[in-house]
This record gives sequence, C-alpha cells and structure tokens, in this order.
Amino acid sequence: MMKICPLCNTMYEPKFLCENCSGLLKDKGRLQEYLGPYSADMPIENYEYCTHIYKCSICGRLEKHEIRMVLY
Ligand SMILES: [Zn+2]
Ligand SMILES: [Zn+2]
Repeated sequence: MMKICPLCNTMYEPKFLCENCSGLLKDKGRLQEYLGPYSADMPIENYEYCTHIYKCSICGRLEKHEIRMVLY
C-alpha cells in the first residue's frame, strides 16, 4: 500500500468556495508545481497531506488547501 493524493489522481474533485466572495475555486495544481523549479526537488512520497493551490475564478484570491493522502 502507498499513500496517494486523491486529487492528483483525479479520484475526486472537491468544491471549495472563496472565503472572500463565495466564488468557485479552481484547482491550480500542487503547491510544489505552482511554486516552480525552486522547490521541485521536494519529495512527495510519505507526506500526510498534499497541498493544492486554489484560485478564485471571480476575485482571483489564492487559497491553499491541504488534501489528506489516502491509502491505495
Ligand atoms: Zn495532490
Ligand atoms: Zn473570490
């Protein structure tokens, strides 16, 4: 068994609403990917959480959401 992020593996797609305007937040991918090559060498295995960046489609607010890894 290994731990995987259900979002990265498109097992489900949570709907988060913007705290600012209640607009629908869109998944912009993993935090590591969003930040770019400077943190690209961070290992993703054995993490309890996979951090995803969400962006509001209306006001542009960025939010981080930590997605709990599931055993697969
Ligand atoms: Zn993920
Ligand atoms: Zn918003």
